[in-house]
Amino acid sequence: MAATPEQPATTTPRRKAGRHRGEGQWAVGHHTPLNGNEQFKKDDDGLNVRTRIETIYSKRGFDSIDPNDLRGRMRWWGLYTQRKPGIDGGKTAVLEPEELDDKFFMLRVRIDGGRLTTRQLRVIGEISQEFARGTADLTDRQNVQYHWIRIEDVPEIWRRLEEVGLSTTEACGDTPRVILGSPVAGIAENEIIDGTPAIDEIQRRFIGNPDFSNLPRKFKSAVSGSPHLDVAHEINDIAFVGVNHPEHGPGFDLWVGGGLSTNPKLGVRLGAWVPLDEVPDVYGGVIGIFRDYGYRRLRTRARLKFLVADWGPEKFRQVLEDEYLKRKLVDGPAPEQPAQTWRDHLGVHRQKDGRFYVGFAARVGRVDGSTLTKIAEVAEAHGSGRVRTTAEQKMIVLDVAEEQVDSLVAGLEALDLKVTPSPFRRGTMACTGIEFCKLAIVETKARGASLIDELERRIPEFDHPITININGCPNACARIQVADIGLKGQLMLDENGEQVEGYQVHLGGALGLEAGFGRKVRGLKVTSAELPDYVERVLGRFQEERADGERFAT
Ligand code: SF4
Repeated sequence: MAATPEQPATTTPRRKAGRHRGEGQWAVGHHTPLNGNEQFKKDDDGLNVRTRIETIYSKRGFDSIDPNDLRGRMRWWGLYTQRKPGIDGGKTAVLEPEELDDKFFMLRVRIDGGRLTTRQLRVIGEISQEFARGTADLTDRQNVQYHWIRIEDVPEIWRRLEEVGLSTTEACGDTPRVILGSPVAGIAENEIIDGTPAIDEIQRRFIGNPDFSNLPRKFKSAVSGSPHLDVAHEINDIAFVGVNHPEHGPGFDLWVGGGLSTNPKLGVRLGAWVPLDEVPDVYGGVIGIFRDYGYRRLRTRARLKFLVADWGPEKFRQVLEDEYLKRKLVDGPAPEQPAQTWRDHLGVHRQKDGRFYVGFAARVGRVDGSTLTKIAEVAEAHGSGRVRTTAEQKMIVLDVAEEQVDSLVAGLEALDLKVTPSPFRRGTMACTGIEFCKLAIVETKARGASLIDELERRIPEFDHPITININGCPNACARIQVADIGLKGQLMLDENGEQVEGYQVHLGGALGLEAGFGRKVRGLKVTSAELPDYVERVLGRFQEERADGERFAT
């Protein structure tokens, strides 16, 4: 049965209304919607919009779409309206949503664990060419995003995706989003534990399930047993990180409450060790807490991180154990410091079965349908038909015989996909930006790509791991706060007093066991035109002054 605000789908005993009654928490008896989003979710489950898309909107066209579906429930199926071309960033905050809306959509395909077959990749590429004007971006959550989608084409796109086992279900919206997973799960020589069975079970139990389709906001998750800490676990609402327990063996360390955006918080450890077969139950407990106790009054305080910050890890673990799991969790160790800085699996690596996997990079995750189709062809010719997306906007081909590696590398390089990229191509990510995003203030993807090319030309000798993340607005879709150089898009005045695109600079952020947010350098803003000069200066100084082994963030 569907959960409704009046009837939360849980048998959990309810607490008395307390000081958080005003936060709209269902578990303390507050069922009256306190904002427009809560109201439309109460009026009708977001999952139900699919039927209207198939039977009404795709047949009658864009103008027939109910506004609450258009800007609300369609997200439950991975659809966002995209930004009308030609509207500059200065108008983002002043125009009404309908003035910013184009009559086309962004459509996100969820790729749980980043796992794809070449057949699936080929279909993704074909859809891009046929319905999305060739667009296809690799996101930093292992998804693929299309643009220029017409509502009329959505049912056919779903049919083709679902025919090969892919979907857009809950790819956006206040839902359990894609489950990040180590892209080398099951094959890496140094893997602690393969989380794939847990990802599959979480998908089966929780995705598209109306009991969990009305959350206070999005719920981001990650499961990885890689010692490289390769899924940015620190910035997910829930993360399971591979560890070896001294008595019980391989399992997962449980983290909750991470998230970036305008009020960033790193996830916290609950000090609990979770065996593989219990991961889905623990996921269910944490998402249940979020649904029932999560704040629903203000969208800006609705992510799980705010509840975790208010409760603290001890109380959160106690509620999880007592009210949801009905048993105690086992105490466990923290993850160990990874042996290397890069987390992306680029390059050529031996698998535990003796074959090889090969990771490669486009620029800032920007590919296109034709390139994806060609990647599928090259991967099929050299591997077993398995590919992966990473949480760094990159891809990997699996299962390559040793004698096939050189030929695969040559095939990828011929597509301008680098197996041994410069640190700039390797470490630069960019969000969607003003090209398609309605919240954007500045350009990001093209800027990031040209910055990579410029830095490769200017400082070809630079060879240290570096991350440069570019966002088009104060949100954090490209994780600016945890980059060595984080660039937050904003408008500013240039030396002639003209309003131009630029970036607020954050320096020295990091993920990993030394994770922390970059310092916002007071008053340090650079215009887009000055950006290559600025980054070149910062990296040049770092290169000259760094001590042996010193990382940019230290
Ligand atoms: Fe859009 Fe801002 Fe996210 Fe970039 S960071 S994709 S501009 S919301």
